[in-house]
Amino acid sequence: MNQPHRQLVDPHGRKFPYLRLSLTDVCNFSCDYCLPDGYQCENKKDFLSLNEIKNTVAAFAELGTHKIRLTGGEPTLRKDFIDCLKIIDKTPGIDQIALTTNGYKLQNNIKSWVDAGLTHLNVSVDTLDANLFNSLTGHNRLKEILQGIDYALTLPLKKIKLNAVLLKNINSHQFDQYTVLLKDKDISIRFIELMQTGDNFDYFNRYHVSAQVLKNYLFENGWTVKLKEEASGPAIEYVHPDYQGSFGVIAPYSKHFCDTCNRLRMSSTGEFHLCLFGEKGFSVREFMQSSSQKEILKSTLCQLLSKKRKQHFLHDNDTGITPNLSSIGG
Ligand code: SAM
Ligand code: SF4
Repeated sequence: MNQPHRQLVDPHGRKFPYLRLSLTDVCNFSCDYCLPDGYQCENKKDFLSLNEIKNTVAAFAELGTHKIRLTGGEPTLRKDFIDCLKIIDKTPGIDQIALTTNGYKLQNNIKSWVDAGLTHLNVSVDTLDANLFNSLTGHNRLKEILQGIDYALTLPLKKIKLNAVLLKNINSHQFDQYTVLLKDKDISIRFIELMQTGDNFDYFNRYHVSAQVLKNYLFENGWTVKLKEEASGPAIEYVHPDYQGSFGVIAPYSKHFCDTCNRLRMSSTGEFHLCLFGEKGFSVREFMQSSSQKEILKSTLCQLLSKKRKQHFLHDNDTGITPNLSSIGG
């Protein structure tokens, strides 16, 4: 029997309208902080099928989730990526479908993704320097990616964001370059503080810098904090009267970061993660096989959510078991 009033609420009173769904671990880029040696396929993995995705999204939607973000690995590498969008778009209760992508397929495909139901787009652009982009990601594609973003701006998407991981002496002195982009474009550039994962300990020690450097830059240059909308998540948004676009700062090491956590994660092999860090995933794949199991899936998700901790323990260097963000859906 349907229980329409049951919602995803954790023991700390946080609600979860937002699911990050990983479609694959595979990625064609080799970002230095994530997969420096590229994706390594030790044992071929069996990623969630369309049917499993459909059943999962339907269960979450009945528990109050209205936004799905597709991530990975690189989600757009899936051959059935458009079918994934279409299936999610048809799910009652889902009104936002977001994508986090490295932009590799953006220019040629964004129109068909929007036609299939995509509403929000995040593209990772860690630097606006083409040579640096090439050495960071292993792909000399910055120009095409920026053209893809310009094209996306002409399409009926609700929001376009760029993601950049804040890296000491790599992009931490390049904020001016981003402001040029923001002058006349309605995009948000979100700097994410580099997070330590199981695999990137040395890299983290070398390149991590506090998001305070960006906050200082924004303060000195007349950017002010925009009032947070309810359930807007942990990013702090900065606006400026002379710029159409905005800056976003995601600082996972800052105090109270976890207070506004509004997201849950499903890995590409059906492991439910309550947090990016500090806990193993709980496999719920056996309950994704048929729509007749939806009630079991829903009650399992609610039971597991009762284990969600109040905060992560990154400050104590406890990265949990996450080897890199591509393996869980960053
Ligand atoms: N491949 C897609 C992309 O790069 O946009 C989606 C997956 S990627 C894991 C999702 C986001 O996580 C990207 O914006 C990436 O820059 C970010 N990311 C990966 N590793 C990170 C780390 N150690 N710290 C902070 N952000 C990280
Ligand atoms: Fe691939 Fe995204 Fe990781 Fe870069 S950050 S290696 S694009 S999964």
